[in-house]
Formats: sequence, structure tokens, C-alpha cells
Amino acid sequence: MNYKEALQHPIFKIISQSAKELQLDSYVIGGFVRDFILKRGTAKDIDVVAIGDGIKLAKQVAKNLPNKPKVQVFKTYGTAMLRYDDIEVEFVGARKESYTEDSRNPAVENGTLADDQNRRDFTINALALNLSTENFGDLLDPFNGVQDLNDKIIRTPLDPDITYSDDPLRMLRAIRFATQLNFTIEAKSLKAITKNSDRIKIITNERIVTEINKILESKVPSIGFLLLEQTGLLKHILPELTALKGIDEIEGQRHKDNFYHTLEVVDNIAENTDNVWLRWAALLHDIGKAPTKRFSKKVGWTFHAHEFEGSKMVYHLFKRLKMPLNDKMKFVQKMVFMSSRPIVLAQDIVTDSAVRRLVFDAGEYVEDLMTLCEADITTKNPKKFNKYHNNFKIVREKIIEVEARDHVRNFQPPISGEEIIAAFNLKPSREIGIIKEAIKEAILEGVIPNEYEAAHAFMLEKGRKLGLTVGG
Ligand code: ATP
Ligand code: MG
Repeated sequence: MNYKEALQHPIFKIISQSAKELQLDSYVIGGFVRDFILKRGTAKDIDVVAIGDGIKLAKQVAKNLPNKPKVQVFKTYGTAMLRYDDIEVEFVGARKESYTEDSRNPAVENGTLADDQNRRDFTINALALNLSTENFGDLLDPFNGVQDLNDKIIRTPLDPDITYSDDPLRMLRAIRFATQLNFTIEAKSLKAITKNSDRIKIITNERIVTEINKILESKVPSIGFLLLEQTGLLKHILPELTALKGIDEIEGQRHKDNFYHTLEVVDNIAENTDNVWLRWAALLHDIGKAPTKRFSKKVGWTFHAHEFEGSKMVYHLFKRLKMPLNDKMKFVQKMVFMSSRPIVLAQDIVTDSAVRRLVFDAGEYVEDLMTLCEADITTKNPKKFNKYHNNFKIVREKIIEVEARDHVRNFQPPISGEEIIAAFNLKPSREIGIIKEAIKEAILEGVIPNEYEAAHAFMLEKGRKLGLTVGG
């Protein structure tokens, strides 16, 4: 097969020419070739393997490019990278790798193209296109990777047991590609992943999180989380989720399986948002249910304050995985903490004051919270399903209505503490706080509108009730 079509960008001719000047062969390999054949759009990162010195080739290419880009050299990895247009090209010399038990960093020696294809993780990632001037665009597919692309299968070029044991990150990559591409992992491979699952311990948290994020960003994230669970990987990387598995029954009372429920919620939310942090919130929204689960004869199963517990667990989970403890983390915490609020609304008659309180508490994230809670509706009872969705529609309309009138989204008290002090000629005292709180409550309850005049009159009245006199 010839794939000249894939190599239309002028950069490929320049690489080809540069390699010829250095009298070496070079190939485009990996993701770029795979994604071209899958018609996933032309990838913006290109991996080039040189049979010889990859860094030297990168420098030669840079010299021959009109914009003479800088070459970034990564000495420890023997790779070099340059940018041209919006494309990132990474160069590496073909290599042969051998691994030791305790590290995923292999001993490396120079090798042939075949050696280099052998060290690739999957057959679909070992496809190479020849860049030599004579055989430009020829496909080299020693492991029938194209066939596997057609069959939608993830397979390793060599013995999967060795492949995954050598570099356990590949286990996550297998599951990530299966999720992104909606492929099946070959049975032999799946068995090897299960066998080697506890070797995931030698992989850094940063790399693990990269793969979890890619799974979460996929169209149907549950594919990946189910595979992680089945292979035993999930309990090593997100034990908070495996703890949600299972249904208990006492005296005929059962609760739902919160693990499978969570995966449904994640798939639901993936249809409505690309915000990966909101997807994280969906993934973690019920993690507080495992430690808070109780059974009582009177009310059955309860998960009292699981939202609060869950939001605390979010912090520890982010910390353990070395994810930044920044405003994104706080956002996930807030979503988890508030995740039951709208559903309470949706079960009942939707009042203005309840909606006002929701907007007040959720602030700028109220729409995100609604998106999360709509995704949380996984009931199989069509009557309830429709009722909840209809009520959420009403809530969303009311949010707009209430916000246009009352502006409580970024609530600023209409009467300041200074003004209360001045009105009653007070010294700093607890009455000030009491009056401020009463004004806020009156606004949220809809007793008075969120306006200065009304709030001022309310303040005077409240002060009088507290035994204060105007002017002191
Ligand atoms: P994407 O860029 O969409 O994540 P990709 O296949 O291009 O997919 P990269 O991480 O960019 O993935 O890696 C480029 C190529 O390097 C892969 O196609 C594969 O051939 C090889 N590769 C990457 N990571 C590994 C690994 N852990 N073990 C073996 N080969 C790997
Ligand atoms: Mg890539």
C-alpha cells in the first residue's frame, strides 16, 4: 500500500530531503499514521524515526525549513523536537530496548526499523510510512496493524505479558485507546493486563492522570472505567470508585450499585459537556457514599452527609494523584458538595425562594451544577424520569427569571455593616451581624426584593425589633 496522500504537508518532503542529505532512512510512525487511516483528522503531532541519529536529522530539517525553527533536544531520551506551522515533529533514532524488573526505563541501543516497531505498544501504533525519496509513502506494517484497525482490536506486537510487564503504563494506554477509539482489547492482552495490574505501582501519578483524563474526555468514558475495574487496575488508581461497587441487602431492603450508577452519570454528562472538570465531578459525585453508608430498621439505607464527606475526599484524591490543588479542584469539590441540592428541588414543587437559594449558593457554577444533576437522573422508571427532567426544566427557567430580577448570583449585601452602625449609632456588636443576616434571608426568601430602598426599610424595622433606636 502507498499512503502519499497522508504526506501532503510540505514538511514531509523536507524531512525526506534532509534524510537523504545525511544518507539515512526515515519513517513517520505511530499515532499520525494510525489516525490518518482511521480518518480521525490529520494529527498535529508527528513522530519520525531515523535509522541513525534522530537528533542530527532534526537539526538538518530545521536548517532546511524556511522559518529555521529552534530544535529542542532531550538528551536523556535521545529525541529532538521542532515546530513548524501548527505542527510538532518529534525525532528519534530507531532503537532496541531491554527492560529490567523495577523500572519502565529500558536500556537502549541503536536498532533497525524492525527493532523500533517491536518496541511499540500496539500493532496499530507500529505502522510506519517510508519517507525515503524512492519509496515515499510506502506502508510498513509488520504486525498487520491495518487489519487490526479494520477489526477494531488492540493487540501488542510481542507477547503481551512481557509488553505490559516491561512498561505497565501500556496497560492504561490500551484501555485509553479502547475507550477513545471504541476498540476491543484482545483477550490475551486483557488477561495479561489483569495479571500485571499491580505493576501499575511503578508508574508516576502524573502519567496515570494523563490517561484518566483522556478516558474521561472520550465519548463514552464508561468503556474505560469498566475495563479498569475488570482488570483490577481501578482499585490501585481510584479505590474510592471500587468502594462504591456492590449492593447490600438487609431485611429485604437494597440500595443501588453506586459504581455502575456513577458510570451512567459520567456517560450522561459526556453528552452535555466537554468540560473535563465537570466530568471529574460526575465521576466523584458519590464517592462519599461508601464511608457514610448505614442501615437502620426504620428508614433503610442512608448515606447521610455523603456530599460533605465526598467533597473532603476529593481533596485527598487530588493530592494523592499529584493533581494541582487549585480552583479546578475547588470546583469539583463544590459540585460534589452541592450535588444533591437540585434533585431535592426536582422532586417537589419548584418555589422561587428555593431557586434563589440555589443560585446564591452555587454562584457562577449554577448551570454546571444543573448539568451534573440532570446527568444524575438514572432512574429506569419512565414516569419519574420525565417528572425530574421536567422539573429541572422549570428550575432552569426560574434561574433565569429569578436572576434577572434579584441578582443573587454574586450576592453583594445591599446594606453595608457601616450603614447599619451609622443608622443606630452602634459600636461593633453582634446586632450588626444579626441585621445583615436577616436582610440576606429576607431577600432569599422573597420577603423583600434585592434593592436598597426595601433593604433599608427592612433594616430599620429589624433594628426596632431588636430594641435599637434610630440615631442611637
Ligand atoms: P496520542 O498522541 O493520540 O496520545 P499516540 O499513539 O501518538 O496517540 P504518543 O504518546 O504520542 O501516542 O506516542 C507516539 C507513539 O510512540 C505511539 O504511537 C507508539 O508507537 C509509541 N509509544 C508511546 N508510548 C509508548 C509506550 N509506553 N510503549 C511503547 N510505545 C509507545
Ligand atoms: Mg501522538
